[in-house]
Amino acid sequence: MSDCLFCKIIAGDIQSKKLYEDDEMFAFFDINPMAPVHFLVIPKKHINNLMELESDDTGLLGRMFFKAKELAAQQGCGKNGGRFVINAKSDGGQTVDHLHVHFLGGRIFDWPAG
Ligand code: AMP
Ligand code: ZN
Repeated sequence: MSDCLFCKIIAGDIQSKKLYEDDEMFAFFDINPMAPVHFLVIPKKHINNLMELESDDTGLLGRMFFKAKELAAQQGCGKNGGRFVINAKSDGGQTVDHLHVHFLGGRIFDWPAG
C-alpha cells in the first residue's frame, strides 16, 4: 500500500533498525520503545488490522508469532519472556494501520493492561 508507513519500511523507503526479514515478514525495533527490548513483526502483505485477518492468513500469523518468540529469545528474553501484543483498531489503540505484533521484554508488565 503506497501511503502506508510500514509498507514503506518494508520497501526500504523509510529507514528502520531491521532485526529480521524473509519472504513473508519483516521485524524491526520500535522507534519509541516502551521496554528495554521492543520490536515489531509485520507481514509483507498489507493487512490493515487483526479484525481484517482472513482465514488464509492464519498460518502467516502463527509464523509471525513463532518468529517473534525466536527473536525475543535472541534478544535475551528467552528465560523470563515478555509481552506479545496486537493492538487492533481504535479501541485497541492501534496507530499504524498495518498489522503488527509487538514484543516487549526486559521488564515486568502489569495485568490487566491499563
Ligand atoms: P500501534 O500503536 O500498536 O499501532 O503501534 C505502532 C508502533 O509503531 C508504535 O509503538 C510506534 O512507536 C511504532 N512506530 C511508528 N513509526 C515507526 C518507525 N518509523 N519505526 C519504528 N517504529 C515505529
Ligand atoms: Zn502497509
